[in-house]
Amino acid sequence: MDLLNTLVDKGLRRELPTREEALAVLATSDDELLDVVTAAGKVRRHWFGRRVKLNYLVNLKSGLCPEDCSYCSQRLGSSTGILKYTWLKPEQASEAAAAGLAGGAKRVCLVASGRGPTDRDVDRVAGTIKAIKEQNEGVEVCACLGLLSDGQAERLREAGADAYNHNLNTSESTYGDITTTHTYADRVDTVNKAHAAGLSACSGLIAGMGESDEDLVDVVYSLRELDPDSVPVNFLIPVEGTPLAKEWNLTPQRCLRILAMVRFVCPDVEVRIAGGREVHLRTMQPLALHLANSIFLGDYLTTEGQAGKADLEMIADAGFEVEGADEVTLPQHRAHAAATGGCGSHQDGGCGAGADADAGCGAGADADAGCGSHAGGGVCGTAASAPAVSEPRTDLVAVRRRGAGTDLAPNA
Ligand code: SF4
Repeated sequence: MDLLNTLVDKGLRRELPTREEALAVLATSDDELLDVVTAAGKVRRHWFGRRVKLNYLVNLKSGLCPEDCSYCSQRLGSSTGILKYTWLKPEQASEAAAAGLAGGAKRVCLVASGRGPTDRDVDRVAGTIKAIKEQNEGVEVCACLGLLSDGQAERLREAGADAYNHNLNTSESTYGDITTTHTYADRVDTVNKAHAAGLSACSGLIAGMGESDEDLVDVVYSLRELDPDSVPVNFLIPVEGTPLAKEWNLTPQRCLRILAMVRFVCPDVEVRIAGGREVHLRTMQPLALHLANSIFLGDYLTTEGQAGKADLEMIADAGFEVEGADEVTLPQHRAHAAATGGCGSHQDGGCGAGADADAGCGAGADADAGCGSHAGGGVCGTAASAPAVSEPRTDLVAVRRRGAGTDLAPNA
């Protein structure tokens, strides 16, 4: 297929595909799916070999958010029976992080619900970062605390944070359909603040919220322009009690096409499969490792993932290997930029490219959510030849009842 040969060539050169090429990937048929995975897999292996980076989520503060992100079970008015608790103490967070690190994770993602942190919250998280770094040499710490005010990214950097996550989630034109309490521009501003402070930026999307193919391509191209080092791809978990509970729009094949498109547009960035992996990719998860080079180990913020042990077995069975603490995740040109505070190279085509359907803000990862639907009443973004819609798999959605905020051992 000429399209795929062209995309592989461009991916190896970090050259931006055309929008038409990106849209064509999303429109491929099921007959072509393995060819698409093979092509995007070549780009993935060129930049990241067969390594899979493991990340571990610690929800520092759960629920009770005043914002109204439609996909999120921590939102204002959510009736999902999630765990609700305020800030974990540094030693509690450190203990939770240690479980993930013992399971093979090299990055800990510290997430807190809310619009954004107060300066006192930043001081509190600084203490937690210090506690985790003192007890775990070489660990990477990413903070995900919502919208940042001036000076807060610098304070987190000084405290030892390596990265900051804030997702764009969806296209600028549909952002108002999923959230009314903050804007797309607010989110862009926070990603730029993280960059400017020398933090490795992590910003991604949530698919499955009723968006069109054009919306998906829009958000991925916007991410490339923002140039994060990691791009988390969340697949909406339509959680009961949120406005998007009925948005079951994804199939495993559709998820693979989306991941392939992200890889082609952001070839040299850490593409992470985030929330919704188990719910939407299901038995196709191992194929997705040929596209993404990073996953979360264990549970998400408010929902449960498959057993950490099953994640490790899947990686080994698929012929991949867990990335070690002493291995550098990013390609040399990007690792250098991240270390020096810049990120990627806008001019030479590098894409930035990182939470958890966890989507968002402070919140992340479970992108339990989705957003409204566009005209047509339907499931947009579904390739013509693909099944129109997945059967709801509510049986695969479980609210997190273990780990941080409980007396039960975490899943790691
Ligand atoms: S995504 Fe973040 S800001 Fe939005 S409702 Fe959830 S916790 Fe609040």
